[in-house]
Amino acid sequence: DFFLFDELVDEVVEEVQRTTSNHVIEKQGATERVVYGDRDRIEQVIVNLLTNAIKYSPHSDKIIVKSFLEQGFIAFSVQDFGVGIPYERQQQVFERFYRVSGNETIPGIGLGLYISAEIIRRQGGTIEVVSEEGKGSTFCFKIPMHHDTH
Ligand code: ATP
Ligand code: MG
Repeated sequence: DFFLFDELVDEVVEEVQRTTSNHVIEKQGATERVVYGDRDRIEQVIVNLLTNAIKYSPHSDKIIVKSFLEQGFIAFSVQDFGVGIPYERQQQVFERFYRVSGNETIPGIGLGLYISAEIIRRQGGTIEVVSEEGKGSTFCFKIPMHHDTH
């Protein structure tokens, strides 16, 4: 299975933008690349990252989505200006059922990032977060331009 990465991003951003009037999703960059992999699953990852960005930035905020190429990888990042994640919790957010305490009023079960990390790993890629508490978070995944899925 293969698909145009930029087309998928456009589609998901448009779809998620329709679910919120408080956030403006700003799109930057393009990859002009075809991805060999499971489109539905990568779509799921992008949806997870975008819905998190919206959920965890309760004020009307901008969300920046970037697509770019980096050393044989397609890179995709979602930056929000929301609650952020304390440094010592940033690795745990990818664990199954993990939720950062203090965010209990925001609904969720703590599986989105666990599933996303698993999907990206199977695609031969990596996912990471850079965040500052109270300032916002940037989640970024990288998937190889050429990869045999199994
Ligand atoms: P769901 O399973 O519905 O996605 P969830 O959003 O709580 O529930 P994850 O998406 O796996 O679960 O995220 C895990 C935890 O990481 C969240 O509960 C939240 O505490 C933190 N987190 C994730 N994304 C962000 C973000 N953009 N800003 C701040 N905290 C975040
Ligand atoms: Mg989530």
